[in-house]
Amino acid sequence: MRKLPSEPSSVTVIKDSANRYFLSFVVERQPETLPKTDNSVGIDLGIKTFATFSNGTKIDAPKPLKKRIKKLRKLSKSLSNKTKGSKRYEKARARVAKFHGKLKDTRTDFLHKLSTKIIRENQTVVLEDLNVSGMVKNRKLSRAISDLGWRQFRTFLEGKAEKYGRDLRVISRWEATTQKCSCCGFRGGKLDLQVREWECLNCGAKHDRDENAAINILVAGGQSETLNGRGGKHKTSASGSSSLC
Ligand SMILES: [Zn+2]
Repeated sequence: MRKLPSEPSSVTVIKDSANRYFLSFVVERQPETLPKTDNSVGIDLGIKTFATFSNGTKIDAPKPLKKRIKKLRKLSKSLSNKTKGSKRYEKARARVAKFHGKLKDTRTDFLHKLSTKIIRENQTVVLEDLNVSGMVKNRKLSRAISDLGWRQFRTFLEGKAEKYGRDLRVISRWEATTQKCSCCGFRGGKLDLQVREWECLNCGAKHDRDENAAINILVAGGQSETLNGRGGKHKTSASGSSSLC
């Protein structure tokens, strides 16, 4: 068992839909600080690749998540075949709930580790303000997005930026981050989702679609207001990128 950092001022027992019990403690703790760094990063969130950084790093969503979704579908189907209120139905319902709990744990763990790493390594973090509810109109997309937890990811980043004194900036989704060449600023046409790599018609630079977007996000973040009012308006630059200009 883990030791609490101080005497708790309250304890709450929580039961989730999978009949699991959790104890929640409220404790006072001193704010932690991280050493300042000059690093800044722009992050492009995607479906195939969960996150692409402006330095070219790509982060995939955890594989078990994909595998488990298949099993979850099977369990849900088995539930829908049973008579509501029957013992078998209750058993199947509990199994589905337990699975949802496991999926949630895997996703939360992944998002916590990734957000901690990003905040630890960067002074300034720039994200695009994704209109998740607008995308939810596309059912296929919406399922993938809610499984990935973009919203939760941003919430984690916000909390950790606040806690460690980092600067989290969110740029408007109307910035043309995908179409704009990060080398010369030329704006090409709209890119089909299937197009993963493209060449700028103006300067000839070759781009990885997501990395180019992440660089544009980082640069746009350098001109935007800070979200938590910290860090000032220092310029961000896209250094360490593998994009060829
Ligand atoms: Zn160009």
